[in-house]
Amino acid sequence: MADFKKKNCKYLIVMGCLVQRYYDDLLKALPEVDLFIKIDEYDKLWEKIDSLIKKGIVEKSKTKKITKISEIPTMPMLDEEDFLNREITTGKNFAYLKIGEGCSNRCTYCAIPYIRGPFVSRKKEDIIEEAKLLAKKGIKELIIIAQDTTKYGLDIYGKSALAELLDEISKIREIKWIRFLYSYPEGITDELIDFVSKNKKIAKYFDIPIQHSSNKVLKTMNRKTNKEQITSLIEKIREKIPDVTLRTSLIVGFPGETKEDFEDLKEFVKQAKFDKLGVFPYSKEEGTPAAKLPNQIHGNTKKKRYKKIMEIQQEISKEKQQNLVGKEFQVLIEDISFDERFFIGRTFSNVPDIDGLVYIKNNKKINKEEVLNNFVKAKITDFNEYDLIAEFI
Ligand code: SF4
Repeated sequence: MADFKKKNCKYLIVMGCLVQRYYDDLLKALPEVDLFIKIDEYDKLWEKIDSLIKKGIVEKSKTKKITKISEIPTMPMLDEEDFLNREITTGKNFAYLKIGEGCSNRCTYCAIPYIRGPFVSRKKEDIIEEAKLLAKKGIKELIIIAQDTTKYGLDIYGKSALAELLDEISKIREIKWIRFLYSYPEGITDELIDFVSKNKKIAKYFDIPIQHSSNKVLKTMNRKTNKEQITSLIEKIREKIPDVTLRTSLIVGFPGETKEDFEDLKEFVKQAKFDKLGVFPYSKEEGTPAAKLPNQIHGNTKKKRYKKIMEIQQEISKEKQQNLVGKEFQVLIEDISFDERFFIGRTFSNVPDIDGLVYIKNNKKINKEEVLNNFVKAKITDFNEYDLIAEFI
């Protein structure tokens, strides 16, 4: 990006978790950067950038002088409407809608609570206002995110208010699809499951990162749910919503994970048959309790365990994909292949950038302007490991 800056742009601004955590180191390591913004300074984002431009701080940085945020004078802030009326960087169809920041769960392997602090919900009115603004800009699908969406409301309303919030958002006429991600298992209430089963705008999709199945490992991870609770939650969701899509993520090679623990996990994955599953080899996060645990697992063992879980899940995915052949779905078309032989889209069960895609044959040589960024009906005719092939109905 520093090279890119030389020819193409004036400023290089770096912001996010890394800046929050390693601010002083980054100041020294990256003199090409004109401005670093920590995550707890997002409310000063515009004033900092404005000051950077107006005060010619950039000219100073060209002479290799490092500019600290504190050296930049404060300018008046943009108003709330400007803040809400943000640029959409995810295309014409969907946008992420953040409902909270931080996390209070304190899983022992995770650095997020140390970087972003405890979970803080945004006010319902602000979220709805942002959702309405996004709808006005033509957004059809909202992806509700937070570090743990099920915690929404607990801090400011004294109870989980996710279902209530989703219900409000679903009343916005222009929004056709809504999905929520990152649901901690213990936070998935009967009320939430009932709500998802009934509200047609909410994707019948639960993203429940369970991380492991061995009770011993779950305890060391400081996860609050055990294997039995996770199993009965999965059963309950499938019973109430038979066509539900379940996604999870797992960590293999957590410190102290024995052969028996890993066998437990393999068996669990085979039995649970998640529709979608992501697996990650454990990696030590500086400053977390797990990084100091004894019995760290060797890199090769982690790799082998990762591969094994992937192999098991590939078989399950094949079976799941096969079951979709012949079924009809509404597909949101978002792209066209370079040779224009396929329109590319997603069903309600596909999260952008995470799940697979649907490739619809362009047999009828349809005018692309008619279907791009619109919903169409398609029938699944074939599949590969992750994606589906379909034809227009
Ligand atoms: S893994 Fe998720 S739930 Fe656990 S502390 Fe990190 S952000 Fe919170």
